[in-house]
Amino acid sequence: MSTKKAKIQSLSGMHDILPIDQKYFQRVFKAVEGIAHFYNFGRIETPILEDAELFYKGTGADTEIVEKQMYTFRTKGGDAVVLRPEWTPSIVRAYIEHGMQTMPQPVKLWYYGPCFRYERPQAGRYRQFHQFGFEIMGDKSPSMDSQIIQMSYDVLKEARLKNLMVEINSIGDSECRPYFKKNLMNYFKSRRSSLCPDCQRRLKQNPLRILDCKEEKCQKVKTDAPQIINHLCEGCHNHFKKVLEFLDETEIPYSLNPYLVRGLDYYTKTVFEIFENTPEGRLQGALLGGGRYDNLVKTLGGRDTPACGVAGGVERIANVLKTKELKPLKSDDAKIFLAQLGDLAKKKSLKLLEEFRRAKIQIMEVLSKDSLKSQLGMANKLGIKYVLIFGQKEALDREIVLRDMDNGTQETFKLSDIVKEMKKKIKK
Ligand code: AMP
Repeated sequence: MSTKKAKIQSLSGMHDILPIDQKYFQRVFKAVEGIAHFYNFGRIETPILEDAELFYKGTGADTEIVEKQMYTFRTKGGDAVVLRPEWTPSIVRAYIEHGMQTMPQPVKLWYYGPCFRYERPQAGRYRQFHQFGFEIMGDKSPSMDSQIIQMSYDVLKEARLKNLMVEINSIGDSECRPYFKKNLMNYFKSRRSSLCPDCQRRLKQNPLRILDCKEEKCQKVKTDAPQIINHLCEGCHNHFKKVLEFLDETEIPYSLNPYLVRGLDYYTKTVFEIFENTPEGRLQGALLGGGRYDNLVKTLGGRDTPACGVAGGVERIANVLKTKELKPLKSDDAKIFLAQLGDLAKKKSLKLLEEFRRAKIQIMEVLSKDSLKSQLGMANKLGIKYVLIFGQKEALDREIVLRDMDNGTQETFKLSDIVKEMKKKIKK
C-alpha cells in the first residue's frame, strides 16, 4: 500500500484571496460602499443558499446559468436548494417577503458577497466569485437606468480604472420582443447550417442569445441579422432615447451594441455592460452588467413593479487592477513596533497594546520573540520608523525607551505618557 497521501487542494475554479491581494478587493469594496452610501442605497445581505425554484423562475429555466451552472442539491429534509448563482432574484424575493412594496418607492439596495457557478474555469471565470450590485425597485423612469449606469461607471473610476467603455442596447419588452424574436428566428432558420451547434439549439429556445454568441462561425451570419433597435415599440423606443439623452449629459463614453442581449430571461428594455477597453481588459470580459427588469417582481409573486440594477464581478476588476501600478490606499500599516524583553515586560505589554488599540494607533509586535536583535531586525525589514523597547528594567521603573530607526537616537519616556507621545509623533 502506498504511504504517499494525495494533497488536498482548493477545488477547481475556487480560489484563496491571500493577504497580499486584499488591497485590490478592498479597493473595489470601498468604492462600492462609498458610492452606495452617497446615493442613499441600503445594504442588503441574503442567504447564500436559496430555494432552487427562485432561480428556475427568476433567472429562467432556459438560461445558461440555470441549465448548466447551478450548484443544486437536496438537503437531508429533501428540499431542492441552490448556492446562489447571482443576487437579483434573491433581492426581489426579499423585497416581496419583507413587504418593501409598501415603503416609499423607489427602494434602493446594494449588496456584496459570493456567488457560485459551475463554469469552465478560464480567464475571468471562477466557480466561486464575488459580486456587488445596486438595485432600484419601484421606479420606471429612464433616469434610473442612467443613474445605475453612472454609479457602475463611477465604481470603476473610483477603483482607478481607466479606458472604460459602456456598451448599451435595448431588448424591448413583452409588446415588441415576441414579434422581433419571430423575425430573428426566420432569419436564422434559413441560415441554420452556418450556425455553431450551440446556436442551432438556441434557435428553438432563445434566438436572441445567438446575437451574443462569440463563436467565429456565427459572426458572419450575425452581421446581417435584423436589429432589435429598429423593431422597438413606441414605449421602448422612447424609454431608450431618454436613457441615452441622460447619458449624453454625463461624460460617460458609451457605444450602442446591437448584439448585446445578456443571458438572463428577466431583462426588459435597457441592457448594458462595461469593459476595460484594453487587450487585457477584453480578456477578462465584462466587468459589470445590468439593465432593467420590469417583470421580475411580478414573476416571483409580487405586485407589478418596475426595477433596474447592475451586478459587478469583483475578481474581474481585481484582476485588471493587478495589471496596474497601484498607489496604495491611505495606509493603516503599523508605524510603531513594540520590542519586549523578559517575562515581566512581556506580561505588561498586553495592557500597553490594548491602550494603543483604544487610542486607534496601529502597533506591531511579536510577543513570542525574546531577542532584541531579532525584534529590531524585524522592525527594520518592515520599514517601521519607531521601535519601543520595553525590557525588565523599564518594566520595573514604569518607563519605556523609544528608538528612532532612521537616525538611531533613543529617548526614555514614562510608561503612562507613551501613548500620548506616540500619537503626537505619528501625526507629524
Ligand atoms: P452576470 O450576472 O452574468 O451578468 O454577471 C455580472 C458580472 O459578474 C460579470 O460582468 C462579471 O464581472 C461577473 N461574473 C459573472 N460570472 C463570473 C464568473 N464565473 N467568475 C467571475 N466573475 C463572474
